[in-house]
Amino acid sequence: MKNTESNTQTLTTTNANALRDGEHQSPWQANVSIAEDTAKELHTSYDVLIVGAGITGITAALMLQKAGKQCIVSDSYTPGFGTTGGTSAHINTFADTTYAEAESAFGKEGAQLFADAVNEGFNIIKDNVNLYKIDCDYETKTGFVYAETDDEVKQLDDIYTGTQKVGVSISYAENVPTPVEIKKAVALPNQAQFHPLKYLQAIQEQFIKLGGIVVNYTQIKKIEQSGGLFKVTTNNNPITARAVIYATHMPPGINLFNLRCAPYRSYVLGVKLTDDKYPEALVYDMQEPYHYLRTHEIDGQKLLIVGGNDHKTGHEDAEKAFEDLEKYVRKYYNVSSVKYKWSSQYYVSVDGFPYIGQMPSEPKGVYCATGYNGNGMMLGSISAKILSDLIIGNDSKYQKIFSPARIKPIDGFTEFVKENADAAYHFVADRFNIHETDSLKRLKPDSGNVVEVNGQKIAAYRDSAGKIHALSPVCTHAKCIVNWNQEEKSWDCPCHGARYDINGEVITGPATRALAKIDVE
Ligand SMILES: Cc1cc2nc3c(=O)[nH]c(=O)nc-3n(C[C@H](O)[C@H](O)[C@H](O)COP(=O)(O)OP(=O)(O)OC[C@H]3O[C@@H](n4cnc5c(N)ncnc54)[C@H](O)[C@@H]3O)c2cc1C
Repeated sequence: MKNTESNTQTLTTTNANALRDGEHQSPWQANVSIAEDTAKELHTSYDVLIVGAGITGITAALMLQKAGKQCIVSDSYTPGFGTTGGTSAHINTFADTTYAEAESAFGKEGAQLFADAVNEGFNIIKDNVNLYKIDCDYETKTGFVYAETDDEVKQLDDIYTGTQKVGVSISYAENVPTPVEIKKAVALPNQAQFHPLKYLQAIQEQFIKLGGIVVNYTQIKKIEQSGGLFKVTTNNNPITARAVIYATHMPPGINLFNLRCAPYRSYVLGVKLTDDKYPEALVYDMQEPYHYLRTHEIDGQKLLIVGGNDHKTGHEDAEKAFEDLEKYVRKYYNVSSVKYKWSSQYYVSVDGFPYIGQMPSEPKGVYCATGYNGNGMMLGSISAKILSDLIIGNDSKYQKIFSPARIKPIDGFTEFVKENADAAYHFVADRFNIHETDSLKRLKPDSGNVVEVNGQKIAAYRDSAGKIHALSPVCTHAKCIVNWNQEEKSWDCPCHGARYDINGEVITGPATRALAKIDVE
C-alpha cells in the first residue's frame, strides 16, 4: 500500500562526516561522492522503514519499492558508511562457512539451502548489474583456494567434496596465479568482483526513481508500536512505518545477537606493484585467519587488493595488523607503494549461518539480518530478498533455516560459550587493568589510552595540538571498557564491537548512545 500524503518535515544534513567509519578510507569510499539526502519532504507514514543504507538495506529498499511498498531508508551517516564501504567486494559461490561445515551442522538439506542462498545472492547482484546496466567495474573471475600444509590439504579436500555435493562448480587446479609455494589448490569458475559503492549508488538511484526516500544522518533510537504502526524516534524527525528492517549489520541495543554474533575487524591494503604481476583472479589462502587477494583498476591504475589479519574487535593492535599484512604482501609481491589501507567490521554467527527474519523479542513486523561473516555481498543481497518476501507475504524457502529464533546447534555450542565467556572476561578484567601509571601526562600527541586520574577512569585522546578529549570509557551498550584503536582513531568495545569517535559519538553499533564527555580540568 502506498502512502503518498506528504507533510512539511524538512530534512537537515547537519553532520559533515566523510564517507567512512574510521581514519582510513577504502578506494571505494575515496572514489565516490557522499550521497545527499534525497527528499526535502517526508510522507507522514511509510509501509517500510529500512534502517541502514548498506548493501542489505538498499537492496531490500529497491525490491520492496518495486513491489509497490512506499519505503524510507535512514542511515546514521550516509549510504556506504558501514562495512559495504569497507568491504573487499569479492562475489562468490562459496562462503567462509564451508559447505562441508554447513552439512555437518545443518545436514544435507541445510547445506543445500545455504548454497542456494549464497548463489541466489550472487545472482541478485549480477541481475541488477545487467538490468540497470550498472557501470561498477563488474568482472567475472576464477576463484582459487590453496593449501600450504598437510592439514590445509585435508581441509581443502573437505571443501572440494562439500562444494561438489551442493552442485557448486569446483575442480582441482594445477596452476594458481600466486607466487606462494602451494601443496594443493581448487578452482571455482565464474566468481566476480565489483566496485561496491558504484553498485550501491546505482541501485539507490533506481530506488529513488521509483519514489523511495533516503535520509542521511538519521540514527534510529527507539521503536514503539502503537495502533498497528511503529513510531520511530530518531535524532532527527520521527518516522512512522508499518514494518521495520534493521539492515544495520548488527541490530542496535541489547539483544540476542550480542550473544550469538562476535564482531571482527579485517584489514585491507591496496598496493601498486613495480611489475605487472597482478593476479587476474580471486585468490585465497587457508591460513587462520586467511588472506584474500584480487586486482582492481581504479582511475586507470591497477591495485592489488590484499586483505586478512582479522581479529576480534578491540582485542589486538590494529597498527600491528596493518604492519603484518604489509610484510605479508611484500614477501610475495614487488610493491612500489601502498595506496590505500583500511579496516572494517564483520560479524561471525555462532553456528556459521546468518540470522535473517523476524527479530526475536520485538513486535511482529520488526525484521533483521546479521551474522554474514565475510560474505555479506551475497548474504546481504539474499537477506534483502528473504525480508522482502516476508513483508510482502510470499513464502521463502530460507525462512526456517536462517530464522533468528532458531535454537541451534550442538556444534556451535562451544563457540557460543567461548564468545560469551570472552565478553564477561572483558567486562570484569578491563576494569582492573587500568593503572595510575598510565597517566594522562604520558599520553603522546595523536594517541589515546584508558587512564586513571584521581581514581577516575577516563578514555583520553590527546590530539596533535595537545588538547585532551576525555570520555567515560564505559561502553553505553553493555558497560564494558572500550579500547583505543590508534589506526582508526576510534574507541572500540571488546565485548560486542561498538565503536566511538574521539568525541564519543557512535560510529558502529550496537551502541546507540555516545560515550559521556568528561571535563579533565
Ligand atoms: C574488510 C572486509 C572485507 C570484506 N570482504 C567481503 C567480500 O569480499 N565479499 C563479501 O561478500 N563480503 C565481504 N565482507 C562482508 C561484507 O562487506 C558485509 O557483510 C556487508 O557489507 C554488510 O552489509 P550491510 O548492508 O548489512 O551493513 P553495512 O554496510 O555495515 O551497513 C549498515 C548501515 O547501517 C547504519 N546504521 C547502523 N546503526 C544505525 C542506526 N541505529 N540508525 C540508522 N542507521 C544505522 C550504518 O551507518 C551503516 O551505513 C567483508 C567485510 C570486511 C570487514
